Amino acid sequence: MPQVDHMQKLTVPDEPEEVSKVAQSFNQLLARQHQAIQREKDFVANASHELKTPLAGILGHANLIRRHGEQHPEVVAKSLQYIDQEAQRMSQLVNELLLLEGHHSTALAPVDLTKEVQAEVASLKGTYRRDFITELAPHVTYEMTPGDFRSLAHNLLDNAAKYSPTDSSITVRLAKQDHQVVFTVADQGRGIAVENRQRIFERFYREDASHSSDVPGSGIGLAIVKTIIEKYHGKITVQANTPRGTIFTVCLPQQK
Ligand code: ADP
Repeated sequence: MPQVDHMQKLTVPDEPEEVSKVAQSFNQLLARQHQAIQREKDFVANASHELKTPLAGILGHANLIRRHGEQHPEVVAKSLQYIDQEAQRMSQLVNELLLLEGHHSTALAPVDLTKEVQAEVASLKGTYRRDFITELAPHVTYEMTPGDFRSLAHNLLDNAAKYSPTDSSITVRLAKQDHQVVFTVADQGRGIAVENRQRIFERFYREDASHSSDVPGSGIGLAIVKTIIEKYHGKITVQANTPRGTIFTVCLPQQK
């Protein structure tokens, strides 16, 4: 009988060959299982950490109001504003976590992607001083869960704006090419190092935390984008823009 060692792996015998193969497959399965469990653990640890920070802030300000609210009524409005803002951040984070874990509606309907992009750009124009240049084919439609494309566009466009300087331009394209839908967001921002271009899609990964800390975020936007794209069997690629910045390209395959 092959032995189970302290890593719970099976010892792979040289022969008979069949037993050797089964033991190898078993060990590979075990390793994959181990990685999946580790990812889940990291996810729970990261999610708790992300929620703890705003929660500590909320409790701190509630305490402040309780202790000083009567004598210094001016702290009340300020603290309430802070509590409101942090509670909203937590609520958004929880929604995003639920979306990542697949607890969202899956009913499909034809969605006008052109309209979704236009609405998202209009909304971000109110938040960021950037020059949004749009080249959108009219009425590009796709069968999707309503809300999915808006969420995808929001995360890519919000990042493009967040990680690029005031007054720089962001070019947004939407087209049908060879029956595929191609959506591109190109910015003139800080760019993404080649070695990090895969990692940015991991949950909670933020490139160079020290430099990113001046930019608000929790590192799950692109994980959401990837989850949505995979749901439709699409692809996303990242490349450098010239002379600076980043281009994200999303391709959604033709639907039957
Ligand atoms: P968040 O923006 O909340 O940190 P994301 O998952 O959306 O999280 O992005 C992960 C990381 O990828 C960001 O922290 C940032 O370092 C990098 N990144 C994403 N989009 C861009 C971009 N357009 N330009 C430069 N860096 C980006």
